[in-house]
Amino acid sequence: MLAGNLVLGLSTWECDMAYRTLRSWLRHLAETDRLMLAESGVDLDFEVAAVAKRQDGSKAVLFPSPKRGGANAPSVPVIANLLAQRSWVAEALGVEPGEVLSAFRQAVDAPIKSEEISNAPVQQTIIRDPDLLRDLPIPLHNEHDSGPYISAGLVIARNPRTGIQNVSINRLQISTKDRMGILMLPRHLHNFYQAAENQGDVLEVAVAIGVDPATLLASQAIVPIDFDELEIAGALHGHPLRVVKCVSNEVRVPADAEVVIEGRLLPKVRESEGPFAEFPQYYGPAGDREVIEVDAITTRSKPMFHTIVSAGMEHLLLGAIPREATIVALLQRSFPNVIDVHLSLGGVCRYHLFVQIKKRHEGEAKNVIAGAFSAHADIKQVVVVDEDVDVHDPTAVEWAVATRFQASKDLVILKSSLGSKLDPSAQDGISDKMGLDATMPVKREGLDYVVVHVPGEDDPATDQRIAGPASADHEQLQEDG
Ligand code: MN
Repeated sequence: MLAGNLVLGLSTWECDMAYRTLRSWLRHLAETDRLMLAESGVDLDFEVAAVAKRQDGSKAVLFPSPKRGGANAPSVPVIANLLAQRSWVAEALGVEPGEVLSAFRQAVDAPIKSEEISNAPVQQTIIRDPDLLRDLPIPLHNEHDSGPYISAGLVIARNPRTGIQNVSINRLQISTKDRMGILMLPRHLHNFYQAAENQGDVLEVAVAIGVDPATLLASQAIVPIDFDELEIAGALHGHPLRVVKCVSNEVRVPADAEVVIEGRLLPKVRESEGPFAEFPQYYGPAGDREVIEVDAITTRSKPMFHTIVSAGMEHLLLGAIPREATIVALLQRSFPNVIDVHLSLGGVCRYHLFVQIKKRHEGEAKNVIAGAFSAHADIKQVVVVDEDVDVHDPTAVEWAVATRFQASKDLVILKSSLGSKLDPSAQDGISDKMGLDATMPVKREGLDYVVVHVPGEDDPATDQRIAGPASADHEQLQEDG
């Protein structure tokens, strides 16, 4: 199915910091053997997602000409697994792996205003009688999804009161040729929509697909309402993000995106949306949800279409990194001795938080646990460890729990609090939370808690005492009778 490497014959736009377009990032992946090229004719129904899922965690995949059940699909390539590993995020942002959270925080603290242009690449082609499945290669991903979904669309809207924009990624069900069902959590986009709906007005929106990795990450920042996430993308680039006004409404969209769908969220309209597979590897259920009516689709002259496979690394990392950056900043405000945090993969990059502290006082870890529960409602389990435990290594964290934790005194349980509605073990989001203090006592005696160490084990020069591989013919390995 995968046919080796690919040369994207596209114009170069060199980056001083982060990769500023999807294509520049894809070229970089291709140059480093991390972009696989699929065969032609891979089916948009399940097969695209299956091929991408089998490469998840190691390679990005470009599908040059996918089809739908043998029928004619638009001649638009699909791209998946843009950010297949945590280290790729650092690379995409042009920073060292240990600097991702601080780079993201700095961008949030010093956003850069977008630069409005005309003649944007994303408006090279304008479709004014849109038919979503005719015009775009929108995959059907999972066994029980209600239909094809746009899973990597940045939904951009303007606050009807202030005019300031908001960006979020929402799952978008293709309902008819020009209608999409949308799931909105009770956050900023929903707030804008309610304000419009209360006046009986539509809310103009645009869905940008195929943006660079920094813009994708910026869209997931946990920032207050009336904080335009596109300005975080500009700061991550170290350069204003180029935006353009939509052709059918007032929304400003990334000018270098591959595709933009323009439309309106309709007031007082609810239609069936879902089920759709979500990040915890379970389905988010069907319900009566809001509807976007599509007015136009604009694209580059030869666009590509980005899709995110549910619960894959890209989906998880997009949740983890902006949250970690926010959580570490919040915790450090109250606890300056918090060193690092990590939302673990096994905890679906949302539910389980590991916190590294330099412990000064007994009981301190429990205060940190309380702070972490209040940092984000999705957090269900917190493990606090000492500075010698790497929070990015789940085995190291488990070792700390195994050797520095006693449930009768080190466990905190917070019953029936608000958690994630997508956790099937919670009752409509009502969830118990658990904190584990896996730190050593401050006062220790003798060899208590002294971690074993062999003098010389950390010194690479020790390897020079190895002469080479042993042969099975070595005389000391022979039977002696
Ligand atoms: Mn927002």
